[in-house]
Amino acid sequence: MKIHEYQSKQVLARFGVPVPDGIPCTSADQAAAAFTKLGAQVAVVKAQIHAGGRGKAGGVKLVRSAEEARTVAKGLLGKTLVTHQTGPAGRVVKQLYVERGSDIARELYLAVAVDRVSLAPVMMAAAEGGMDIEELAVKRPSAIHKERIHPIKGILPYQLRRLAKALELSGETARRGMKVMQSLAQAFVAMDCSIAEINPLIVTKSGDVLALDAKLNFDSNALYRHEDVLAFRDLDEEDEEEIEASKFGLNYIALDGEIGCMVNGAGLAMATMDVIQLKGGRPANFLDVGGGANKEQVTNAFKIILADKNVKGVLVNIFGGIMKCDTIAEGVIAAAREVHLAVPLVVRLEGTNVEIGRRLLQESDVRLETASSLDEAAEKVVALVEKASKKGSH
Ligand code: GDP
Ligand code: MN
Repeated sequence: MKIHEYQSKQVLARFGVPVPDGIPCTSADQAAAAFTKLGAQVAVVKAQIHAGGRGKAGGVKLVRSAEEARTVAKGLLGKTLVTHQTGPAGRVVKQLYVERGSDIARELYLAVAVDRVSLAPVMMAAAEGGMDIEELAVKRPSAIHKERIHPIKGILPYQLRRLAKALELSGETARRGMKVMQSLAQAFVAMDCSIAEINPLIVTKSGDVLALDAKLNFDSNALYRHEDVLAFRDLDEEDEEEIEASKFGLNYIALDGEIGCMVNGAGLAMATMDVIQLKGGRPANFLDVGGGANKEQVTNAFKIILADKNVKGVLVNIFGGIMKCDTIAEGVIAAAREVHLAVPLVVRLEGTNVEIGRRLLQESDVRLETASSLDEAAEKVVALVEKASKKGSH
């Protein structure tokens, strides 16, 4: 799960990371009042969207008076911001963060992410932080220094010193920087983050070290133990179908292909997507209906898949383990009737009572094709979708 910058800063501040004073706002009047309240010569008005790259897209603006804050806020609120992270559709700005301006001497990069190779969180630091970090990662990856965070011992003092050196920090500034690193590492583990990034971490002209930007992503599987983080959830920033799916306990991720997939089990769902791709089709979604999928879940899953206008065919691939195949077949038939399914449907069942399940499908009045292997199922649905699209174009 993602949260906004100002929320990430609240969390990091709790762990001792210094952040500039700031006030979240949802109107131009609030932004003007926030400027006055901060009592600073310069403030920064920042668009709050669940994506980075705002600076280059005009979503971060310096202002020097309450009136200027109002004007800038008016211009940003309701605007669609397109950054390199939003995709071409962009994101509508609904919230702003007005922050005390900082006198930047240096912009550094500091982040923690889970590293699959070292099987642990890894802290990354670069002396050249700021808005071009993606470019640096591609062109000169060696400029990003990495330290593995020990799962039990945490990050150790010698590692902090190495990171400080990589950031070209010394003296009191290095001490402050190492404290930020320690806090960031602790926050990452304690809050079950998947990413914790401060870009830029700045050194001010007076030698302070501050998190000027902050981005925290959380492992959704651990949210049950972080009610405070769940309270930060902003449904405006999430995909509508994905929210709907989560209400029914379905794991749904929207993709941009044309073959809707309904599968039980995440591993099988991944394999199904791979085989669809292998056979020349493109999956429209990842959907795991769970091990104990019942008729309601199958019906809801159909509705969610079909709400996607790009879907030109559906592949159901279900293994009857906890659920028996005949129960699943009944669910699929009832659901297909209820949603008035108008696109080709291919069903592959395997597992307990598979014979009864297949017979139920074949004898039903719902137009569908059955398949006995995943290969066959994927081939069939890809062929049906191709045929339908050829018909459509003539
Ligand atoms: P992002 O582009 O979405 O990552 O947004 P950031 O919060 O990182 O801001 C982008 C850039 O705006 C930073 O790299 C800074 O150069 C600049 N910026 C942000 N806050 C301030 C500030 O208080 N003072 C000055 N001078 N520049 C700032
Ligand atoms: Mn940034």
